[in-house]
Amino acid sequence: MAIEAATNPVIQIDNLSRTYGPDEATVHALRGISLSINSQEMVALMGPSGSGKTTLMNILGLFDRATGGLYRLNGQDMTHLSRRQQASYRGRHIAFVFQGIHLLPRLSALANVELPMSYARTPSAQRRRSALRALELLGIAHLKDRYPGQMSGGQAQRVAIARAIAPGPDLLLADEPTGALDRKSGTLVLQAFQELHETTGVSIVIVTHDPLVGQHAKRIVSLEDGQIVGDDPVRDRLVAFSHSRGGQS
Ligand code: ADP
Ligand code: MG
Repeated sequence: MAIEAATNPVIQIDNLSRTYGPDEATVHALRGISLSINSQEMVALMGPSGSGKTTLMNILGLFDRATGGLYRLNGQDMTHLSRRQQASYRGRHIAFVFQGIHLLPRLSALANVELPMSYARTPSAQRRRSALRALELLGIAHLKDRYPGQMSGGQAQRVAIARAIAPGPDLLLADEPTGALDRKSGTLVLQAFQELHETTGVSIVIVTHDPLVGQHAKRIVSLEDGQIVGDDPVRDRLVAFSHSRGGQS
């Protein structure tokens, strides 16, 4: 009988592929990639425009489905879930941070962070507790009563991250989270990610072109033309720079 290792990866993908379009004009967005990401890992996903980053994130986030191969999240097969099951699993286990910060302008930081948990019908005391803790983790508890219009871009982005992690996801997916921020705010946000994965154990995957990320992620996965062309631990800043590439996401 096989014994499952105690440290099951949070993400396990094996020979994953995604094609778009009909036979004669098939686009191979992902060409059989394999990757495993553990709890408490923070991985930067880099690669030129068109290399498949968004496709991979959409599959990991259960917004899309692979054409072939295996995707396991917390050891559970995700490849055969119905749309409804995908949505339910996504709501319970996955959080997202996007480049545009979509905070509701008429709600305080605290209310913004609580909102997804009210949709999920989390009891109000627990909601409040989780929201305050998330704001604390991101170093912005003192901003809880501020409205989005009264914050800097970096502060607002940290509120958005607090909102994402407050429900206690296993996996946090971030697409260019520092793309719209100046260098100082970007650094603060990356430091927040770094503390988060260390203190909460959430696995983080960040799509980025930002060489700064290399200073904070301990692992950089490089995609090119739908294939993984590099999967390296980051040792120092120079390594990070040699893996960064230009281009749009
Ligand atoms: P990236 O995010 O790295 O820029 P994408 O994952 O968006 O790359 O795209 C990977 C490849 O798949 C590209 O060649 C892109 O044109 C193609 N692609 C992405 N989405 C679609 C789609 N809905 N229909 C057809 N082709 C697509
Ligand atoms: Mg993209």
